[in-house]
Amino acid sequence: MDDIGANLILVQAQIAAAAERSGHVSADVQLVAVSKKQSAEKVRAAFDARQPIFGESRVQEARAKIPLLPSAVRWHFIGRLQKNKIRHALPFFELFHSVDSLALATEMNRIAGEEGLRLQILLEVNVAGEGSKIGFSPDELRAHLETILQLDRLTVLGLMTIPPLSQEPEQSRRHFATLRGLRDSLARDFSVALPDLSMGMSHDFEVAIEEGATLVRVGTAIFGSRS
Ligand SMILES: *Cc1c(COP(=O)(O)O)cnc(C)c1O
Repeated sequence: MDDIGANLILVQAQIAAAAERSGHVSADVQLVAVSKKQSAEKVRAAFDARQPIFGESRVQEARAKIPLLPSAVRWHFIGRLQKNKIRHALPFFELFHSVDSLALATEMNRIAGEEGLRLQILLEVNVAGEGSKIGFSPDELRAHLETILQLDRLTVLGLMTIPPLSQEPEQSRRHFATLRGLRDSLARDFSVALPDLSMGMSHDFEVAIEEGATLVRVGTAIFGSRS
């Protein structure tokens, strides 16, 4: 548990250095501590070390963990949201990073209306164009964005991506740059502010910040390997 506090200090220092290299300040970048498959005790240790935001990727796991932690903990959903889990997930998360289809956005909007909720979301983009990857292709996103922006229960804060896994962080750079370029052109063409870019994980978050990330999702560099 001692490690978690030390790891957080290191990650925060790396965030600050990367932000400075890109002409930003560390306050421009929010750290989402990815706590999937980590115990509530570990989340508590990180929260006590002043980490406020945690990312979970499974509704059931999150719903078991959340009641064990202080209500001041802020939760982001970063995984694939199945349609039949939407209603169970909506009240618990302040941001949904991974809205990956028009159908999912439409269904989230409908259920949020029934539940009297407003949701903040990011749209997940498959920037590398891999067949098996989830997310909108850039063309699909452009085709559906107007419709999504009209869903009255959803506020689209920006875009998210998971680039192809590689050992070498520099391999991710062009994908992060693609996401930023897509955001810039959509924001211009649709006259909408899309301030947030969720990109970068333990192995490549510094590169992501250099390319404009405002949210980095870091798990193992904080908590160690997942059980
Ligand atoms: C698990 C996960 C992460 C964190 O990965 P690490 O390599 O442990 O930092 C980030 N984003 C998503 C979407 C994840 O599922």
